[in-house]
Amino acid sequence: MDDAALLRYSRQILLPQFGYDGQERLVAARVLVLGLGGLGSAVALYLAAAGVGQLLLVDDDRVDRTNLQRQIAHTEADVGRLKVDSAAARLRALNPLVNVEPLAQRLDGAALDALAGQVDVLVDGCDNFATRFAVNAASLARGTPLVSGSAIRWQGQVCVFRPGTPDASCYHCLYPDIEEVAEACAHTGVLAPLVGVIGAVQALQTLKLLAGLDAPGGRLLSYDALQGRWRQARLRRDPACPACGGR
Ligand SMILES: [Zn+2]
Repeated sequence: MDDAALLRYSRQILLPQFGYDGQERLVAARVLVLGLGGLGSAVALYLAAAGVGQLLLVDDDRVDRTNLQRQIAHTEADVGRLKVDSAAARLRALNPLVNVEPLAQRLDGAALDALAGQVDVLVDGCDNFATRFAVNAASLARGTPLVSGSAIRWQGQVCVFRPGTPDASCYHCLYPDIEEVAEACAHTGVLAPLVGVIGAVQALQTLKLLAGLDAPGGRLLSYDALQGRWRQARLRRDPACPACGGR
């Protein structure tokens, strides 16, 4: 890191648990952010600001005016533009030291699998369960940690999955029944800052993973925004899970 980088990241480097070594790890890291909606906007902005060296942004969607209420990486001038291009421009303006790679595709299992082998952490903020299960499978296949987040109505949740650690559970253990959970903000609504709260926690957990700080897997952190209450639950591995049960 040169003097400009040391100055930019000085408030993190000051933290004794993080320090120069932690920052060096961030600068050397590559993270895939899946989905540049409400969660992905908050995740990507914080990861870029904090100095994660390479950010791979994946989303095939375009910015719609109804997105602007909560998807803070995009502005009025971006309506109609690819979300990855809009977000990439915003992140480069925020921190020119970060290398941002936009990928405007809906990735299938094989492509996700290949990418999972090339990044240090997978961050999932996508809006459909087919992709969520495909990312989980890629995380398991490559042993890449997955930081999963979701937010709907007044409820948000975050979970870190660390394949390969003892008794590691996976996303599929959490949602054995796909049909039950197939809802999206488009139909149910969400208050703007909730996606920011959850996305910021996803970014925080990602930074801790990258810096080698304690970020245990298999703990489901849930936030009820209406009641103003956080809860933490231990997520048990499902021995019959079709994704990780045989491992
Ligand atoms: Zn599982």
